[in-house]
Amino acid sequence: MLMPVRCFSCGFPVAEYSEEYKDLLAKGKSSKEAMDSLQIKKYCCRRMLLSNSEYIGELLKFQK
Ligand SMILES: [Zn+2]
Repeated sequence: MLMPVRCFSCGFPVAEYSEEYKDLLAKGKSSKEAMDSLQIKKYCCRRMLLSNSEYIGELLKFQK
């Protein structure tokens, strides 16, 4: 799924952090370190980044 724009629970706009979060993970930071450095402190928002899985590339294999 694409990254939801806002946190489902509190409405904080988490999508604007998703690219930076992915970049930090690619540089070898842990999820905790990445979210801490992005100042995402609420656990409802942290789960949005942690649990997001982008599988749009997998779905595109099945388009006609
Ligand atoms: Zn939240």
